[in-house]
Amino acid sequence: MLNKDEYKELLKESFSIDEVNWYIKNIKNNFDDIKKIFPFEDTLKEQITYNFRIDDLGEYEIYSPNAAAKCLNFKTKEYEVIFGRKLLTYLYNYAYQRINIDNIFRNKIYKDEDKKYFYSTIIQSWADFICLHELSHIINGHLEYMKLTRNKNDLSEFNITSSIDEESQHDKLMMEIDADKLATLLSMYKFTYSFDRYKEIFKLSAEETIYSYCSSIIYLFDALYQLNGDNRKPTHPSPIERMTLTSPNMYLAFEDNELMSKYNISKDKLNKIIYNTLRDYFLKVHPNTSINKITKIIDDGLLGYEYDNFIKEDKILKHLRNIKIEII
Ligand SMILES: [Zn+2]
Repeated sequence: MLNKDEYKELLKESFSIDEVNWYIKNIKNNFDDIKKIFPFEDTLKEQITYNFRIDDLGEYEIYSPNAAAKCLNFKTKEYEVIFGRKLLTYLYNYAYQRINIDNIFRNKIYKDEDKKYFYSTIIQSWADFICLHELSHIINGHLEYMKLTRNKNDLSEFNITSSIDEESQHDKLMMEIDADKLATLLSMYKFTYSFDRYKEIFKLSAEETIYSYCSSIIYLFDALYQLNGDNRKPTHPSPIERMTLTSPNMYLAFEDNELMSKYNISKDKLNKIIYNTLRDYFLKVHPNTSINKITKIIDDGLLGYEYDNFIKEDKILKHLRNIKIEII
């Protein structure tokens, strides 16, 4: 867990407004790519419109770095994804200061300029994932649910100052799992689109390419978990839960992709690669956890047991399935 000084250090702004604009421009372009690969908007029951904005240390980031989904008009289905500039700052610094690229690229030796490219790639994939997560709150009907049950028009990720009752905690937890699931799928689909380019730039084998991308998403969960430290309210699953609950979706996104036959990667091998990303994360970041426990956590997650237990009998998600805009 980060102490106060470490936390402060990670919130020191170290990039220019041009760089912020560069990230937001890429987020928008990457969204257009995702829609080409997976036209999810065609599967919605109702048309929605949404835009993105970087909130420049505004209302959502008074207390903590944040991201949010907001409904501007429930009748006309106009939504907004808000990505906090403070959050971008935090992730930027976290990547540069705390990510050892050897953990993700498995001891490959890179030149300094390659490393810089690596860091901006990882930050971009994190920014994309967070925006996809917010969009998932929108298309999975979470905002409609918040409107119906609490007359609220937004959902933000970290709201550490509000006192939140048990029922709301539970709802929020379920919605987070639900949003992570779709965000993982969409983010992995996007990755398959740039797979060969990424593979070539970083001089990786196809297996290493999958490993490094999945691994970077796993470290995003770690970064988010560290964010609120001990102040964290249980509105999000723990990073360990998030990682293991989303890993089946990493598998699903690749499973039937033509890249698997192109590079001769069997389903068993794919399963093993994703398993190894989780195992290696635990071994490096939580070295005191026993290997048996790690294996059990991962097995449960990969087989989807925990996820199924979470959602099968859950009232909230059952309800959401009925009201959600998305029909896929
Ligand atoms: Zn969320």
